[in-house]
Amino acid sequence: MTWPVGGDLPRLIARPGEPGSFWQDRGDRHHAGVDLYAPAGTSVYAIQAGRVLQTYVHTSPGICPYWNSTYAIVLQLPSGLILKYAELAEIITTVDQVVTCGQILGKVGQVLLPSRVLPTDPPYIQLLKDAHHSAMLHLEAYTAVPLEYDERYLGGNYFGLTVPPAELVNPTPILEEILKYEAPHTS
Ligand SMILES: [Zn+2]
Repeated sequence: MTWPVGGDLPRLIARPGEPGSFWQDRGDRHHAGVDLYAPAGTSVYAIQAGRVLQTYVHTSPGICPYWNSTYAIVLQLPSGLILKYAELAEIITTVDQVVTCGQILGKVGQVLLPSRVLPTDPPYIQLLKDAHHSAMLHLEAYTAVPLEYDERYLGGNYFGLTVPPAELVNPTPILEEILKYEAPHTS
């Protein structure tokens, strides 16, 4: 398996409750995945071989003024587990493409436009702005293909739920496993 973000960055996984951690309580919403902060343009890799199921728009200024346009890739692993790689600037794969472990899927995007963040925007957005975390890979994991349009879901968060939807999985153990046994990048 391969760590999903390139570059010589510290490989940090937020601990439960920390900003960017799985199911972080953001007041009116909960975080659906984990955030791996990296500069915009950093390569994003398939952690394992798999097949691209879907690609679509993840955020845009039309949905929310402080968002940039970013994209998502839905990748199915041989185990059946489904990963959503989101907040990408660029997608370098196509639907139905079979990718190898370590293959580049896309590039990290700048999801947050700090100059457009207003004092009335959600506190977790203010924290991201203050920490200069405007670009990241947002990674989610599912046991079934997530809906492209889900009224409970927006921009990597679920609204109105106290526990994760049944099909949503915490990707943290997978990332911890990769840190233990990482294979070198092949592309
Ligand atoms: Zn996120």
